[in-house]
Amino acid sequence: IPDLEHVDPEIGSLINKERMRQSRSVNLIASENYASPFVFEILGSVLNNKYSEGLPGARYYGGNFVIDDLEKLCKDRALKAFNLSPELWSVNVQPYSGSPANFAVYTALLEPHDRIMGMSLMAGGHLTHGHYTTTRKVSATSIYFESLPYGVDPKTGLIDYEALRETAKVFRPRLIIAGASAYPRHIDWAQFRAACDEVGAYLLVDMAHISGLVATEQHPSPFRYADVVTTTTHKTLRGPRGGMIFCRKELEQKIDNAVFPALQGGPHNATIGALAFQLREVASPEFKDYCERVVANSKVLASCLTKHGSKLVTGGTDNHLLLWDLKAEGLSGAKMEKVCEEASIIVNRNTIASDSSPISPGGVRLGSCAMTTRRVDEEGFRRIGTYLVRARDIARGIQERSGKKLAKFLAALHDPSLPEREALTEL
Ligand code: PLP
Repeated sequence: IPDLEHVDPEIGSLINKERMRQSRSVNLIASENYASPFVFEILGSVLNNKYSEGLPGARYYGGNFVIDDLEKLCKDRALKAFNLSPELWSVNVQPYSGSPANFAVYTALLEPHDRIMGMSLMAGGHLTHGHYTTTRKVSATSIYFESLPYGVDPKTGLIDYEALRETAKVFRPRLIIAGASAYPRHIDWAQFRAACDEVGAYLLVDMAHISGLVATEQHPSPFRYADVVTTTTHKTLRGPRGGMIFCRKELEQKIDNAVFPALQGGPHNATIGALAFQLREVASPEFKDYCERVVANSKVLASCLTKHGSKLVTGGTDNHLLLWDLKAEGLSGAKMEKVCEEASIIVNRNTIASDSSPISPGGVRLGSCAMTTRRVDEEGFRRIGTYLVRARDIARGIQERSGKKLAKFLAALHDPSLPEREALTEL
């Protein structure tokens, strides 16, 4: 069989370039990870060819006896990975990703225009938790439902549970979403349950970021408290890109119907196969060890940055990510992201609670799960910390001298005669 580069040189070359970019950079994107070669093998398998609308044993296409076994195995492994009894919990492994999984839950449990409360995007929540701005309903979750966000205490960066409960009593949501994309501390699920019970709301936990940590007991489990739990499968869980919805048995029918036929068509069977493989790995002692190292490495990075005078939102981390408050150092998140990228360190700018607008976020988010997969240890993370501190100092130096806009600043970075350029190359 001729190889891809000969058949389609454009795509072949783009994949090669991306492979090189990934292998040559330090990846600190908290939502990314490196799936195993077996996950890739399954994703590229014949499972991709089959249509199987419906559920195991109740499909709308013939020829699904193998796919039925595959999906049943995946569901089985999903419940086992999170230590859930099949008598009490059900799981749907068909969501195409985390966003459709969340929308399926709203579709299942709510009527159009019902009220929801999720963490605001500015404070670390996700778009699908009801995001809107003063001028626009950005997410479909705020177009179809009435959303009122809760936030964090701007001083501590911690979820303000008291304010959340007070707001819920007035707003009386039908559903509250706990979980975040950029929150560095453990979440107190019991506080959310109490807030929901006071107003008769469902509790949806979106554990997309931390599901690997939950499965390995590095983060308290939400299953005692939640009615429904969603997750992506590609962050700390390290599987293929996808989504899952766990729900209490009595909600099973509603959730399954919301995924199909309400929202989706045929399941992505190659993804389900790869997820089944990954869930077996998640239940292994090696994966527990991996998640322990993810958290330890994240803490090392946090202490390295604070030791060098940097401020972290909440002062540190309990999980795989940290939020670096750069406003305190006179920098923007965008500038830091660019300087780091020049040095092949990949981070993403992120709002911090004290930002007044999401347009120019004052922080960057750093995560440890991808580099821990690449076997970087605590010593390595200490070194990454010192690189980041140097990148920060370079960004500050450039800023202080030029005081110009980002475009000029970037042009300056490409001028080989500048000492900053040299320092960046060294980095
Ligand atoms: N929920 C949370 C908390 C997330 O952080 C994300 C993605 O980053 C999602 C949902 C959505 O996942 P996806 O990008 O797979 O749709």
